[in-house]
Amino acid sequence: MAETLAEAVSRRRTFAIIAHPDAGKTTLTEKLLLFGGAIQLAGEVKAKKDRIQTRSDWMKIERERGISVVTSVMTFEYDGNVFNILDTPGHEDFADDTYRTLTAVDAAVMVIDAAKGIEPRTLKLFEVCRMRDIPIITFINKMDRESRDPFEILDEVEEKLALDTAPVTWPIGRSKTFCGSYNLADNTVRGSDTEIVGTKVNGPQAVASRLPENERDDFVNEVELAREACRPFDRQSFLEGHMTPVFFGSALRNFGVRDLINALGDFAPPPRDQVADVRTVHAAEEKMTAFVFKIQANMDPNHRDRIAFARICSGKLERGMKARLARTGKQLGLTAPQFFFASQRQLADTAFAGDVVGIPNHGTLRIGDTLTEGEALVFQGVPNFSPEILRRVRLEDAMKAKKLKEALQQMAEEGVVQLFSPEDGSPAIVGVVGALQLDVLKERLSAEYGLPVSFEISRFSVCRWISADKPEDLDKFVTARRGDIARDLDGDPVFLAQDSFSLRYESERYPAIKMAAIKEYH
Ligand code: GDP
Repeated sequence: MAETLAEAVSRRRTFAIIAHPDAGKTTLTEKLLLFGGAIQLAGEVKAKKDRIQTRSDWMKIERERGISVVTSVMTFEYDGNVFNILDTPGHEDFADDTYRTLTAVDAAVMVIDAAKGIEPRTLKLFEVCRMRDIPIITFINKMDRESRDPFEILDEVEEKLALDTAPVTWPIGRSKTFCGSYNLADNTVRGSDTEIVGTKVNGPQAVASRLPENERDDFVNEVELAREACRPFDRQSFLEGHMTPVFFGSALRNFGVRDLINALGDFAPPPRDQVADVRTVHAAEEKMTAFVFKIQANMDPNHRDRIAFARICSGKLERGMKARLARTGKQLGLTAPQFFFASQRQLADTAFAGDVVGIPNHGTLRIGDTLTEGEALVFQGVPNFSPEILRRVRLEDAMKAKKLKEALQQMAEEGVVQLFSPEDGSPAIVGVVGALQLDVLKERLSAEYGLPVSFEISRFSVCRWISADKPEDLDKFVTARRGDIARDLDGDPVFLAQDSFSLRYESERYPAIKMAAIKEYH
């Protein structure tokens, strides 16, 4: 019997992996894809990194610095569920990209290095998840190496993140003796992930013989203590973002990864409701709705195309259907939506709420755009962060000013930089959240547009989106401060201030003007 829409939607799990660099995100992604059958050999994700020289030139930056600049999506199926992993750039200079990606997930896996515990970037990413109440599953990685005491790690998560922990499995052994996981709830054990299902045992004593003699008592005692002292897993509390189930393992040595996939299937929520301006949209509604959270250019050097990554919020997307683009009210034919697997993409004939499809286009779609089957609604919440660094772009060849303007507009539409056009007609200002974004801009302008540029310090260092309840108040401010006002890509006004002191001064002088550090796309 054909699957109903509700059934198809309920099998979707869309999540991101958050981690401090080096905790093991890439290795874990590889293993998830491997066990999900999406790739034949572990190492494909890494291999993809190495193949980058065959991709467009600007990715040299990524290669040279060994960081992942590109966000993408990977899909695999396991035990009847469809998993969509949304990858996020590891480097904090691309944080805005990561934050926008997190608006498109329903859950997150937090990977923690068992020796290092909570690191700065884990904390930051966690805070973004908390702002959006995204449920989090914790994976304590690298148990095959010298690690901290598991109770100590749990305490640290509770203290630093103010998050209740519920260990679902307990590690059998440590570092050299680490040999599997013990499920505290149902008394099953799994050695390595080559064991697809766990084996039921009578209690921790039954497994202790897998350990050297001097570690056996400790293991049995720890399991008893974990059962008595730790909270049991409460799914409701997890879904509300108050509690995290914890798993111990080693992505590299294939331990605990199946526990994690099962947890994603059993605990993580199916596609959530999404808030739009006029109403809340439920995932299992008939009609398709989606929003764009990411634009990526030149994924394939053979087709200099631009892919908009759209998260489907409700219904079913069918290849060839027409969608209404909320920002312009125009129709858009979805003739070639794509799915992404480990190393290739494929035409998507149908996709359901929770799925992410790539929509090739030539600049029609922008970050934050809403697509529907006709209904006039706009999804809320894709954030735009005010830049920390503002620069003027200096062209080496002044004859190419027009070309530069077009190129900057395109880069801004992709979310590489933000672009502000001053009201007084002076040259445009680019804004970025992290300095590496400027390097990417420079590299791409040179490689893709033949425009060698340098950057000049502008007299501004702070930028705020401005609005007022009464239009006349805004007009008054804009007229009075014309030299410090610019428009963003959407034509929305921003106030550019020299420093935070003058920002504070002006906002006290003009209390009717709201100055926002974050703009939500609309
Ligand atoms: P990312 O920066 O978070 O993507 O981390 P990677 O997946 O690239 O891993 C960083 C390093 O840790 C690599 O050298 C991995 O081989 C290693 N690594 C990842 N997982 C484990 C593990 O479970 N045990 C050990 N011993 N090393 C691991």
